[in-house]
This record gives sequence, C-alpha cells and structure tokens, in this order.
Amino acid sequence: VLSLAIGLWMGRRMARAAVWAADARHRERELEASRRQLIAWVSHDLRTPLAGMRAMAEALEDGVVDDAESMREYHHRLRMEADRMARLVDDLFELSRIHAGALNLTVADVGLGDVVSDALAAASPIATSRSVRLRTPVHAAWPTVKASERELGRVVANLVLNAVRYTPPDGTVTIDGGRDAAGPWLAVSDTCGGIPEADLDRVFDVAFRGSRARTPDTGAGGGLGLAIVRGLVEAHGGTVAARNAGDGCRFEVRLPA
Ligand code: ADP
Repeated sequence: VLSLAIGLWMGRRMARAAVWAADARHRERELEASRRQLIAWVSHDLRTPLAGMRAMAEALEDGVVDDAESMREYHHRLRMEADRMARLVDDLFELSRIHAGALNLTVADVGLGDVVSDALAAASPIATSRSVRLRTPVHAAWPTVKASERELGRVVANLVLNAVRYTPPDGTVTIDGGRDAAGPWLAVSDTCGGIPEADLDRVFDVAFRGSRARTPDTGAGGGLGLAIVRGLVEAHGGTVAARNAGDGCRFEVRLPA
C-alpha cells in the first residue's frame, strides 16, 4: 500500500511538473511572439510618422511652403505628430518594463473609487467633446484593493479612454465595480456596437488594431494600450477579459482577493 501511495504521489508530481514545463514553454513562446510584434511595431509606427515629419520640415526649410497660413498649418501638424510620438514612446517604454519584469510595483491599500474618480475626471473633456455620457451606478460599492496606485490608475484610465473613444457620439460609458466571492472587480462597459467575436482575445495583443481603429480626430493610437492594461493587471496577479454585452463591449478586471 505504501509503495502504491508513493508511486501515485510521484506520478502526480511528475504530471504537475510536465504541465508546469508546458505552461512555461507556452508563456515563453507568447513572449517571443510579443517581442517580434513590438519590433515590427517600432519599425512601422515610429518610422512612418518620422518620415512624414521630415518631409514637412524639409518643405518649410526649402521654402516650398511660404504663405503664412500653410506655414502655421505645417507647424501645427509637426507639433501634433511630435506629441503623439512622445505618447507612443512612453507606451513603448512602459511595455518594455512589463516585458522585462521590471515594474517594481509599490503595493498599498488603494480605494478603487478614488482611482475611478481620477479616470473619470481625466476622460471628462474628451467625453464632453464627443457627446458621450460617463456614468457610475449609484449602487457601486468600491472596494479597497492591494495595488500600485499609479499602475492601477493607468489601467482604469486606458479602459475608460478607449471606451469613450470607440463609442459613437450620444453613447454611454458605464464604470462599475465591487467585490464578490472571487474578489474585487471593476468593469468598463460601452455602447460601441460590439467587437467581432474573433477579435475579443486579440485586442490585448501588442499592436492589434481592430476594424474600429481610432481616427486622427480621436487621437490615432498605437495599439499598445490594452497590451499595457493586460501586462499591468497580470503583474498584480489579476486578470482582464473583454466580451460583448448589450449594445457594446465590457472589459472586466479582476484583482486577487
Ligand atoms: P489603440 O486604441 O491604440 O488602437 P488598444 O490596444 O487600446 O489600441 O486597442 C486595440 C483595439 O481594440 C482598438 O484598435 C479597437 O479596435 C479595440 N478596442 C479597444 N477598446 C475598445 C472599446 N472600448 N470598444 C470597442 N473596441 C475597442
């Protein structure tokens, strides 16, 4: 009986070790694919706008553009592009810190309600300009979570800003949260019309941009926002998932209890 028990125990341990090794290989392959996507992203998303900026700067320098109105327009576009590229470089930096496992999260008790208020305040001007209503249900009972305030703020801000940008005018973005048997949760729902089922998982991939990608007037993005969201949530030991619900989609974040 003893040798049978030992045999069973060893067998279970070996099976667990094999599952663990397969998981590690799978994770390593995912990271490698992600690194390749990042390199392709840098060469396209940073080099293409740089070429455009150089062409505009040359046109100004060579005097090809010389009337005051066009010159103002060129300078304005140069500054907008420079701002956008600075944001992309910040995102790229954040993602590379996540990939390198170099986040060094400073975890403390954080009120989810405070993080949500900050994200709402930041998103309010763009929501107003797009006639999108921002709401939180009155019953929302915001839990306190163990998290890095800065990184969690980034997660919520990215989700709320995306919802506002991808929801057509006159739509509604709802931010809800609470705590259930599985632990604290936060959900951002919108009325964007839904995401194609096949894309629901891929939206978190580096450089993935759906058919409903942002236009320049909503601040063309680099497709890194949700990859950052997933990386930051997982660094906290949590999960994030997207699904279609009602007239739009719902992004749900779960943090460890
Ligand atoms: P970006 O917004 O810069 O394109 P993201 O990683 O934030 O990059 O999003 C990836 C893609 O997921 C977007 O291009 C869009 O197609 C889709 N998406 C993200 N958030 C939403 C949302 N709230 N509603 C509908 N589609 C969304």
